[in-house]
Amino acid sequence: MDIEEVIRKYALKNAYDYGKASPGAVAGKVVAEFPEAKSKIKEIMQKINKIVDEINRMKKPEIEKELAKYSFEKKEEKKKTIVLPDAAEGAVVTRFPPEPNGHPHIGHAKAVFLDYESAKSYNGKMLLRFDDTNPKKEKQEYVDAIKESLKWLGIEWEKETYTSDYIPILYGFGEKLISLGKAYVCLCEQDEIKENRRRMKECAHRKQSVQKNTELWKEMLAGKFEEGEAILRYKGDMGAANTVMRDPTLFRVIKWQHYMQKNKYTVWPSYDFEAPILDSIEGVTHAMRSKEYELREAIYYAILNDLELRKPILIHFARLSIKNAPISKRLLIPLVLEKKVLGWDDPRLPTLAGLKKRGILPEAIKNFVLRFGLGKAESEPGWEILLSENRKLLDPSAKRFFFVKNPVLLEVENSKPQTILLKEHPNLEKRTRVFNVSNQFYIQHDDAKNIKIGEKIRLKDLFNIEVVEKNKEKLKAKVVETTEMPQLKIQWLPKAEVMPCRVFVPGDLLTEDGKYNKKSLTVDEGYCEKNVEALSVGDVIQFERYGFCRLDKKRKEIEFIYSC
Ligand SMILES: [Zn+2]
Repeated sequence: MDIEEVIRKYALKNAYDYGKASPGAVAGKVVAEFPEAKSKIKEIMQKINKIVDEINRMKKPEIEKELAKYSFEKKEEKKKTIVLPDAAEGAVVTRFPPEPNGHPHIGHAKAVFLDYESAKSYNGKMLLRFDDTNPKKEKQEYVDAIKESLKWLGIEWEKETYTSDYIPILYGFGEKLISLGKAYVCLCEQDEIKENRRRMKECAHRKQSVQKNTELWKEMLAGKFEEGEAILRYKGDMGAANTVMRDPTLFRVIKWQHYMQKNKYTVWPSYDFEAPILDSIEGVTHAMRSKEYELREAIYYAILNDLELRKPILIHFARLSIKNAPISKRLLIPLVLEKKVLGWDDPRLPTLAGLKKRGILPEAIKNFVLRFGLGKAESEPGWEILLSENRKLLDPSAKRFFFVKNPVLLEVENSKPQTILLKEHPNLEKRTRVFNVSNQFYIQHDDAKNIKIGEKIRLKDLFNIEVVEKNKEKLKAKVVETTEMPQLKIQWLPKAEVMPCRVFVPGDLLTEDGKYNKKSLTVDEGYCEKNVEALSVGDVIQFERYGFCRLDKKRKEIEFIYSC
C-alpha cells in the first residue's frame, strides 16, 4: 500500500469511529506505519488534509462501504486500549462526572472505564467530578456508593471535585452571558415555555434589556422567585432545527436543602451550562459521554464560544444496554422500592454492588465493557458475554469443591473406611481437602435418576462402581475394577460429613416483554463438603460440575450465590 492509500484507510476509520476524521489523528497512524514519513511531515500533512477533507464530505454509508476494503491488524489496536482523536502523550485529561442520584450500575462502569483507560493509554489523568446540582435528587449515600464501587473496580482518580463547589464561579459566567446579551431571565410559565419551544416562538422576555435581565437575575439570587417562576435562559435560536438550541435553561430556582451545600443556594445551574464550563476550566482535553447527549453538543460549544473558554474534544459513545436487564434508574428504583429485589446489591441487578455480590470480578466487567470501545453502534448483549469473561478469569485459580444438589443416598457395599485427600485445584500439588469415606455416600438426584442397574460410573477422584440395585430411597453399588474409565464421573460426599448448603441462582430480572420476572431468583438446596468451612464470605469457588459460586453467608446452613 502506498502512503496515500494508508492515509485514506486511517482517515476512513477515524471518520467512521468519530463521525469526522481529524488530520492529527490520521497523521499519528500514518507515521506509526511509515516512520520515514516523519522527515517530510509537511508534505505528508498536505496530503492528509486533502484526503481528510474529501472523506469528511462523504456520507456515512459511503465511508462504511469504502472502509470494508481495508483490514486492520491487531497489533496496532493493541498499542492503545482506546484511541483518542488529537491526543498527545502525557497531556490527556478525562473526567468521570456521575450525578450522585443513584447506585452505580454497569452503564457507569462502561463510562468510567472509557474515561480511565483512555487517559491511562496516553499516560494522562482522569478526574472524578460529582455533578451535584439537583439538590432534590442527590445524597451523600450515593457519593459514597459511587466511590466505593470505583475503588472496587480498581479506578484511580487524580482529583475529586464537586460541581456544587463551583456555584459562585458559575454565577459569574451566567452574569457574563447576561452582560453579553446572550442570556435572559424568562418569567413564562413552564407549559408556555414548552409550547413556545414547540412552536418556535420567542417570548416577550427575550427582548428585555441587559439592565432588566441583571435586575431580575439579582432578584432570582435574592430568593424573590419561587420554583418555576423564573429561569435564566440561553439566547439561542428559537427557530433552530435542533430543539436543544431553542433557548435552553441555564439556571433554575430550587429551594431545597443540598446534601453538602445545605441552604447556601436557591439558584442552581443546568447540566447544559455547567458541563462545558467545568470541563473547560478543569483542564479536560477529552470529554466522553453517551450518545443520547449528541444533540447537546451544539449548546456545549456555543457556551464555550460566547465565554471564550478553551474547548475540550467531545466524544459520544453508545450507551450500554443488556438484554432483559433494567439498566436505568427509571426501571431500577421501583424494583428496589417495591422490594421485588433484596436491595441495591441484589445479585440479579446490574448495579456494581449486585455484580460484586454475584462474584463477578472487576476485571471481567472491564473486559466486557471495553469490548464495545468508543463505538457508537448500539448493541444489546445478554449477560452471557460477561459471565463467560468471568469464567475465563476464575478458572485458573478458583478452588474446587463438591456440592450435591438434591442428595440421594448411595450405599457401596465393599467400600472400606479410609481417609482420602483431594486437591483444591488441578494445578496444585498439595492435597488439602480431607474426606473420611465409609460405605455411605450422597450423590445428586440429577445423576441418580439416569443411572441404570449394571451401569459403571466413576465417583470422581475415588473409585469406579457398578450399580446393583436402585429404588426410590437409595442406590446400591459395589466397587469394581474396570479397564476403561467410565464415561460418567460424578461428585459425591461421605454421608457422615456433609454441610447443609443453599445456592441462590439469579436469572433475568425482566421477561422478554419487559415485565418483572417472578422466577428470577431460584434456590438449589443440598449438601456441600465440610472443607468449605475454611472459606471466607466473598470467596468465589467452583462447585465441580455445577458452576462458580460466591460464598455469601456462613451460618448453620452455608449460603452461596451462583455466579457463572
Ligand atoms: Zn418568557
